[in-house]
Order: sequence, then C-alpha cells, then structure tokens
Amino acid sequence: MNKKVCIIYTGGTIGMVSGEHGYVPSSSALFEAIHSMKDLKKAGMPQIDIVQFDPLLDSSNMSIAEWNKIGEAINERYDQYDGFVILHGTDTMSYSASALAFMLENLDKPVVFTGSQIPLCEIRSDGYNNIVTSVIIASDGIAREVSIYFDGKLIRGCRSTKMSSTHFAAFDSPNCENLAEAGINIEYKKDYCCPQRNGKFRFSPMKEVPVGIIKMFPGIHFQIFESIMTEQLKGVVLETFGAGNIPTSSSGALIPIIDKAYKNGTLVIVCSQCVQGSVSLGAYETSKALIDIGAVSGKDMTTEAAMTKLIYLFSKDLSIDEISLKMTENLCGELT
Ligand code: ASP
Repeated sequence: MNKKVCIIYTGGTIGMVSGEHGYVPSSSALFEAIHSMKDLKKAGMPQIDIVQFDPLLDSSNMSIAEWNKIGEAINERYDQYDGFVILHGTDTMSYSASALAFMLENLDKPVVFTGSQIPLCEIRSDGYNNIVTSVIIASDGIAREVSIYFDGKLIRGCRSTKMSSTHFAAFDSPNCENLAEAGINIEYKKDYCCPQRNGKFRFSPMKEVPVGIIKMFPGIHFQIFESIMTEQLKGVVLETFGAGNIPTSSSGALIPIIDKAYKNGTLVIVCSQCVQGSVSLGAYETSKALIDIGAVSGKDMTTEAAMTKLIYLFSKDLSIDEISLKMTENLCGELT
C-alpha cells in the first residue's frame, strides 16, 4: 500500500513572494509550486496531504503557541500518516525543532523540518530538492525522530543550529553526527537514528513559561540585567565563554545577580557561545563561582535546546530539583 506523508505548511521563505516591504508568506505560491513538482507524483512516492497554518508566518514570529499548534497538528493525525514534513522558516527552525523534539514524547515516526533560502517561486530555489528529499525521508520511516533536512544533510532537530543566512547549507549540528547524507542515495546512520523511547507516543504541550537568555561579552555591565532577575523568571540560559566561563573581575560582578536569581528560584543553565564542544564547570577559576551558586551545566546542548527544554520541563510542574536534574539528563538525544 502507498505510504502517506502529511506536509504541514507554517510559512517561511520557501513559500514567500516579494511584497511591498520585503518577502511575505503566500498560500497560493506554495500550493502552485508543490502541485507542479513532478517528482512528487512519480511511482513509489507517498501520497501527500497538505495542512496549512493560518496565518502563515515568517518564523521570526513563532512562539510557544505555534510550537503547540504544530505539535497538536501532528498529534491529531499521528495514526493516519507514516511521517510528517514541516515547512518552516529557517530563522527559528532550530528552536521549533528542539521544542517539538521534547514535546513529541516517544515519537516513533519521522518528523522532518525543512524550508529554503530562496523561495520556490524564484530561480535557483533550493526548496524543490529540500521538499522532495524530506518527503522521501518522512516516508522511509528510518529516522523516527524530529530532524531538519537541508542541502543534502539530515540532522537531529534538538542538536541543530542555524549557521548561515546565505549558504544553502543553512544548518549544522556541531556536537552530533548527521542522521543521514543525501547524495545519489540517502545513506542513513541507522545505529544513530532514533533516541531512546520508553512508552507510547504522547504529545506534551508547553505552557507560557518566562525564561531568558543572557550572552556574556567582555566589559558586560551586569547591573543592567538585575532588573530582569525577578521571581517571575523561571529559568535563564547563560551563554558563557568557552567551557563555561564568565567575567569575574569587573566591577558590578555577575555573581551577586545570579545568586539573587538562584535565591528567587530561577534556574540558571550554563551553555557556551562556542558552537562545538561542551561546558566544563570548574575547569577554570572563572567558572567555579557558577558551581557555588548552584548553576547547572548545559553540557554540550545548544542554546536552542537548553531554552526549549527549560520551558518543556517547567510546563510539567516538576519541582526545581527535578528540573535541575533532568536538565543534565539526555531526554531525546539533545546532549551527549
Ligand atoms: N525570515 C524567514 C523565516 O524564518 C527566513 C527563511 O525562511 O529562510 O521565516
């Protein structure tokens, strides 16, 4: 029997047209382009249905509400399809793919995010190949997890980060092997696909949890951040230097402010500005103070994964100790 793939169109460059103030998403442009894709109609290809979001979004406007909407759209159709392709803008695709990787618990089917750097309606669009290959990957059923397919590479969604706003190879997962390479053949790293599952598929929506991200820089004036460190802030991801280091010698030091956050019950997660490698708290004196105030190492998680994982865990109403512990555990392949 023919396999079935559901394409969920959320917006993004792939279906955009030129508007008065720059590119905007279009419903007709995407539908026209997909219906004229001969490869999608060839023998051996799965049957395709398309679900379209209203409104279609530039992914800069994605929020927790849209992540839930994508999750709900998959959940409602989970048993009817062999796999799902999510057409999404590239700007925040790594955030959405990370969020969905956590929310779609025990996922056992491929959910492939893709998009393009050039709209389908324009010359040299990379969208055609990205869609056709993503549909094949979604129907193959081998990489049964949330992934991103772009320019010949299939990568784990919760390890991904946007690397380029101009190259066709827009995404990478520097701390994790690719799940597949698509050349003449699609070569899957079968042993590597599909992180652990321990039960039936379940969609776990997120709540509107206030979290923050603070990026360190030389000469940072920490006092500026004091005002955001209130009891309302549930968690904060610090994007630190190298292996988890922060400036400790400058006036108005960060530590009392982070200490205040910690006492308020704000969970402090330490990630690195380096895209490759891991946080190693205590390796340098400039990170020791973070251990003393109870900050949690984000290890080799991306900022996108750490931030969405925080929201996911806080949405479950766990205790702060349980959340701290789970932040260091591997839930769906997001850390080594
Ligand atoms: N601004 C666009 C978006 O994220 C960029 C893209 O899709 O490549 O929706």
